[in-house]
Amino acid sequence: MKNKIPTAAGLIEPYCITGTRKFRLKDHHPADTQGLSLKTEAQAYLDASVKKMSDMQAKLYAQESWAVLLIFQAMDAAGKDSVIRHVMSGVNPQGCRVSTFKQPSAEDLSHDYLWRASREMPARGQIGIFNRSYYEEVLVVRVHRQILDNERIPRPLITKRVWKQRFSDISQYEQYLRRNGIVIRKFFLNVSREEQRKRFLSRLDEPEKNWKFSQNDVREREHWDDYMKAYEDMISHTATEDTPWFVVPADQKWFTRMVVASAVVETLSGLNLSFPKVGDHRRKELEEARTFLLNEKG
Ligand code: ATP
Ligand code: MG
Repeated sequence: MKNKIPTAAGLIEPYCITGTRKFRLKDHHPADTQGLSLKTEAQAYLDASVKKMSDMQAKLYAQESWAVLLIFQAMDAAGKDSVIRHVMSGVNPQGCRVSTFKQPSAEDLSHDYLWRASREMPARGQIGIFNRSYYEEVLVVRVHRQILDNERIPRPLITKRVWKQRFSDISQYEQYLRRNGIVIRKFFLNVSREEQRKRFLSRLDEPEKNWKFSQNDVREREHWDDYMKAYEDMISHTATEDTPWFVVPADQKWFTRMVVASAVVETLSGLNLSFPKVGDHRRKELEEARTFLLNEKG
């Protein structure tokens, strides 16, 4: 067993899909931990990453120029919620918002499918986290065809090219966002069917986890292979150098967190953030304010 944690860039490299090579899900193992088995050191590593993230977020926030969008997609019980909670534990809540995308509402369905996502886009200086996203439109909607039929899209527009068209529309939308300064990173938490089974069982066995259990989630397991095909096709068509997918091993939660935290740190580092420079005029204002405060009578 190795026990030396690689650099953040080295750690995430095997999972970063940029569309330059053929992507096959079967090359990615949900239980992979790069030979690391050090739960305790993982915690120290995660803490250090969270600290770096927090320092860079302060600059992102101060600059109000770039925005960051982190998208999380996964099968049920892959650990989306807990990854989001752990990885973002150190960031300033004022500069960060989590948006959850469940089944669309009646109002959502009376618009195009990107409408509800647009309303949740992070503003400049902010980190936006999507817990599920518009990618459901090529996942659950593809696996359960009747959902597409209920979207009220004019019939002549729905052809067998619909999924390819959605990939193309989503990619162009992301390119548009990127050109506006919204940096996008997408995470597929890759849990195995067997690990999901174990996690569902623990939701039944442990009373404090009962609330998480859903009969429907168990029924969705019948469609596992269809989902995996949909994920593979989606990642193949929508991963680019600028908007990569990270296929994160998700059978070991501590490793999932390390990879996601490292990817976020690398993303923020790549922006070379710094606090806005103080110009002469502003410096004079600050000096005046200092004098004013110092002279104030107590
Ligand atoms: P939890 O961890 O609490 O189970 P969750 O994200 O699975 O979180 P649920 O309320 O269980 O939340 O499930 C939301 C459901 O909404 C998912 O099954 C998802 O596939 C579905 N969904 C999301 N977006 C769409 C969409 N655009 N069209 C149809 N279904 C959608
Ligand atoms: Mg669920």
